[in-house]
This record gives sequence, C-alpha cells and structure tokens, in this order.
Amino acid sequence: MLNRLRRWLSPDLAIDLGTANTLVAIQGEGVVLDEPSVVALQQGSRKVLGRGTAVGKLAKQMLGRTPDSIIAVRPIQDGVITDFELCEAMLRYFIQKAGRTTPGFRPNVVIAVPGSITNVEKRAVFNSAERAGAGRVYLIDESKAASIGAGLPISEPLASMICDIGGGTTEVAVLSLAEIVSSKSLRVAGDELDQAIVDYMKQHFALRIGEQSAEQLKIKIGCAYPLDQEQTCEIRGLDIVSGVPRKAIVTSEQIREALRQPLENIMTCIKSVIEQCDPELVADLSDTGMVLSGGTALLPGLSLLFQEQLGIPVRVAKDPLRAVVRGAAICIEHLAQWKDGLETSNRNL
Ligand code: ADP
Ligand code: MG
Repeated sequence: MLNRLRRWLSPDLAIDLGTANTLVAIQGEGVVLDEPSVVALQQGSRKVLGRGTAVGKLAKQMLGRTPDSIIAVRPIQDGVITDFELCEAMLRYFIQKAGRTTPGFRPNVVIAVPGSITNVEKRAVFNSAERAGAGRVYLIDESKAASIGAGLPISEPLASMICDIGGGTTEVAVLSLAEIVSSKSLRVAGDELDQAIVDYMKQHFALRIGEQSAEQLKIKIGCAYPLDQEQTCEIRGLDIVSGVPRKAIVTSEQIREALRQPLENIMTCIKSVIEQCDPELVADLSDTGMVLSGGTALLPGLSLLFQEQLGIPVRVAKDPLRAVVRGAAICIEHLAQWKDGLETSNRNL
C-alpha cells in the first residue's frame, strides 16, 4: 500500500540518454518525453539560456544558426559525455519536465548508457541523476535495453543479436541467457552519415551545406539499397567557388553513394561481433538473425543491405527510435527480475 502511494507520488522513470535524442518513460504511462539532447548557452557563461526554452527541441533549432552570443551544444557526443555540467543540467530539466516529482520523494531511475562508457562517465551519470532528483539509479547497457525493447528472448539459451544505430554510436551485441556474450561500440552512426553527405556535396557539387540540411536530405531521400523508384531533392547551399547561395538537385542514388563508406564501416563492426561468437551461437544466428534499432534503422533499405552482406535474416524493430527506452521501461516495471543485470550507484565503481 505504502509502496503504491510512493509510486503514485513519484513514479519510477526510464531514461534513454542518447547522443541525438533523450527519451523518458514513466512507469505505467509509457514515453512522456522525447527531445533532442541539445542545450543552448550564453557564450562565455555556463548558464543555460532562459527558463525551459534552452533545452531540447528549441535548442536543436539553434544548432548552427546561433548568433555569436549563443552557442547550442550536444553534451553527449559519440556516446561519450563531453560536458558533465551540461549533461547534468539537461538531465535535471528532462527529469523535472517528465516526472511527477513530489518534494521528499525520489523516483527510481533506470538509465540506458552506451556499452563503451567509462567508470568515470558512469559516476558522472549517477551523480547527475541523483543531483537532478533521482532516488536509486540503475544503469543498463543500451544494447541490452534495445533488445528487451525489441522483444527479443534474451533470457533464453539462444543467440539474440541487436544492432542499435543512433546518432553518435552504433552498438552491436549478441546476447544469450540475459548476458552480453559479444559486443562492440563504434563511433560511426547517423552523424557520420550526415557528415558524409556534407563531404559529398562539397566534392561533387562544390556546394557547402550544414549538417542539419544534410540530415534532412538523408531523411528525405537517403537509402542504403536501390529503390524501386529513385528520388530527387532540391538543396540550397553556398557555392564554394563564387561564395553565393545556390540550389542543386540531388538524387537518391547520389546520397546512397555518399553513405556507402560509413555503412561499410558499420558492416565491418557487425561482422567482427559475429566472428567473436562461439560457433553454436553463430549457428543460432542464421535462424534468429539480427534486429536493427535506433533512428538510423529507419534508413530505407538498410536491413536489405545488411541481410545481403551478412547472410542472416535482418529486420527492423517496431518503432526503432523508442526500442531502448521501451526496454529500460520494462526493466523498471519488473525491477526484481532484471535488477541483477543492472549497475547501481553502490559506491564501488
Ligand atoms: P541516439 O540514440 O544517439 O540519441 P537516435 O536513436 O535517437 O540516436 O537516432 C538519431 C539518428 O537517427 C540521427 O542521426 C537521425 O538523423 C537518424 N534518423 C532519424 N530518422 C531517420 C530516418 N527516417 N532515416 C534515416 N535516419 C534517421
Ligand atoms: Mg540511442
């Protein structure tokens, strides 16, 4: 009874602290917050701009568009917290915005973090969350959360394979009996695809475009495998030679060519994770295959490309952008079952 009252006053939270997007789910309610992991700051000061306006969606619009006096930054880059203070400010803002916080009550929080995170960074996440109002904090490996969220039977003595391709990192893992048996974290994901498009436009069109425009181009006509009907898109940029704004028409084939190299790097990473597995598990994989999650899993034709090159079935998780937070939410809902596999803030890091 008391427990139920506590939960009602301060429901437990699941957080996917991503490089591109942060999502928060509340126990029993589902995802209540989904915003870019971006913070806007006054140049020279450590103060986050304004009240409620400088974190998340609005701050993302400011990226690359700010006057000199304001900077918009992503506190987590390549899966690593590059700015602890800002990360804490962002986490506090999101927890307060999402949570039903009641003074005196602290919610338990499960936070999904990249597999490559160091102990110092773990400590920083624990501290940030605790200072932001969390009670007990549990960390879960992103790939584990993604596979639970994708509905994979990871507790069984059978290989389950997940590849979560977000903004900053790609997390590949094979799990069996609820443990990660082989994994790798690669700093190539959606951001690198955007950068590859920026470079391609410079090289082949003599046009300078921003990363946000490149991302839009990727989402509009990007693909990893030939489309039934190839598409085109108009893009504006700065002519490198004349220095004036100019438009250009880009095709989906050209974007595919631009994305080829970074996608190949991801493929190499996936192959090396499979190679590290015991032969029995590799044999399982030809049946169970691999599941894709994370925002980049939405790139058309990605599962086809991987399937062709790896020779195992590949499918995209349902609502791939939310697989990680869904998995973390399942853990907090069934904490007793999953607790052993999570790291807590026992001061033994
Ligand atoms: P993170 O976990 O790092 O926060 P997400 O899983 O939220 O990342 O995914 C963000 C990435 O997904 C970004 O690089 C974004 O450009 C990319 N993305 C989102 N939608 C699409 C789409 N339809 N096609 C290709 N990439 C997409
Ligand atoms: Mg993610």
